[in-house]
Amino acid sequence: MNNDSGHSDNKDAFRDSIATIDSSGKRVWMFPSMPKGKYYNYRKYLSYLYLVLFFGIPFIEINDSPLFLINILERKFVLFGVIFWPQDFFVFGIGMITFIVFIALFTVIYGRVFCGWACPQTIFMEMLFRRIEFWIDGDASHQKQLKNQAWNADKVIKRVSKLSLFFLLSFLIANTFLSYIIGKDELFKMITEPLSKNSGTLISLLIFTSAFFFIYTWFREQVCLIACPYGRMQGVLLDKDSIVVAYDYVRGEGRHKFKKNEVRAGGDCIDCGLCVKVCPTGIDIRNGTQLECVSCTACIDACDNIMEGVGMDKGLIRYASENGIKDKKKLTFTKRMKAYTIVLFLLIGLETYLLVSRSDYDATIIRAKRHVVSRA
Ligand code: SF4
Ligand code: SF4
Repeated sequence: MNNDSGHSDNKDAFRDSIATIDSSGKRVWMFPSMPKGKYYNYRKYLSYLYLVLFFGIPFIEINDSPLFLINILERKFVLFGVIFWPQDFFVFGIGMITFIVFIALFTVIYGRVFCGWACPQTIFMEMLFRRIEFWIDGDASHQKQLKNQAWNADKVIKRVSKLSLFFLLSFLIANTFLSYIIGKDELFKMITEPLSKNSGTLISLLIFTSAFFFIYTWFREQVCLIACPYGRMQGVLLDKDSIVVAYDYVRGEGRHKFKKNEVRAGGDCIDCGLCVKVCPTGIDIRNGTQLECVSCTACIDACDNIMEGVGMDKGLIRYASENGIKDKKKLTFTKRMKAYTIVLFLLIGLETYLLVSRSDYDATIIRAKRHVVSRA
């Protein structure tokens, strides 16, 4: 296991604890190796799109209205340039219910694909902060070495550069979030005005910046493991037909080390441990689906590279369902998946209809009670 704790020989030990906490209850720091491969590249390209959208949306306007604004303080909400007021709250209410049903159905079919491919926490952590860390500190072994070595000029320069960049990025993210709440014009006004006029906003900004800095510098994968409610719900949402990142134990077990030119008997897993080394939550996917798996696909890429190197078929770790692996069936779009997907589209259609068909003005006329004023 690629962390600073070492690991147990007991193959069932993973059931008793999580990989990021040692037997004395202390945090085990993760040093995942840099993922390389097809899925990582896809996720990287997709993350560029997300980041451009996240940092760019506050600058987009439609008919002089921002594209999105969630001004909780003034109770004003703008979606796709259309203004919503508190009396439109039912649209948001139905939107929330739709969203929860959507999440539940989506997860039953597609597992935690959202966590790996679209969750802002994963995008910021793995595609921004982690990549800066790889760039400054080097790969996992160098990071471990740097952590354990005594302070010298090299360590000071690397730590100062990394933490400064982390803080700047956290500040930028906090500002961008603020512009989703108060709008970019208000934000720019605050930036250009004297500090004393907006000290309250500045303090809130620094609090948010510190929160992001704390999360991406120290808390990291713990968000997914212990803080995220969606992550905690996986145990009840996933079933044996859900698509998850899974190890094909039917093909892989009987694992043993690879020897050149041997006539290989037993399983295809060559027990190289690379799938564990790249895992940002430190788990061994060969133990089966686990709560800590955020579906990041790093282990798929790692194993595919190994399989290619030793001349075996790729896909020992892949997107599959537990039943699919047990029954040696390829991933197919089952009737249940089709039915759920239709329901998902219907829900999106309903919410879109409610958003589009809402009229700009809505008035309710109520007959006022007549007051009789008696004169003495
Ligand atoms: S098991 Fe694989 S997919 Fe799951 S978190 Fe670890 S590396 Fe990512
Ligand atoms: S990367 Fe593949 S071959 Fe290596 S230990 Fe993991 S499952 Fe086995």
